[in-house]
Amino acid sequence: MSYDSNNIFAKILRGEIPCIKLYEDAHTLAFMDIMPQAEGHALVIPKEPAVTLFELSDAAAQACLATVRKIGNAQKKGLGAEGVVLMQLNGEGAGQTVPHFHIHVIPGSIADLRKPHATHMADPAHLKTVADKIVAALA
Ligand code: 5GP
Repeated sequence: MSYDSNNIFAKILRGEIPCIKLYEDAHTLAFMDIMPQAEGHALVIPKEPAVTLFELSDAAAQACLATVRKIGNAQKKGLGAEGVVLMQLNGEGAGQTVPHFHIHVIPGSIADLRKPHATHMADPAHLKTVADKIVAALA
């Protein structure tokens, strides 16, 4: 699948639209999902342009997983999450809505994921409060 550099996550990476950032390093960015399926729902993306896992380099995939571990541990510590669900959709056929590779990092249990995918916009002020707890736990 060809990469569209005007997708929303590419714009976030370029700083053209804002996000509630949790963590950033040379290869990855982690930020809050604006339509969370559970409290603390975060996204981890590579800086490398790729739509799905199948186009992503091994190095970028490894960097993403390292960041997923950091965020998941911070969700457990900062939000008291007993578990962390990872979700990762590849292609429109799988229901992927943003064509830049990303891993959903969702605190809680699969049994709690009752909200539909990417539909209900959260209050930004509330998202920031939750994000602050995750960021504090990253330290
Ligand atoms: P996908 O369906 O591609 O696996 O997931 C895309 C995710 O990106 C959805 O959970 C959706 O809520 C989230 N999302 C869509 N647009 C934005 C945005 O502009 N900012 C942020 N932070 N998340 C977004």
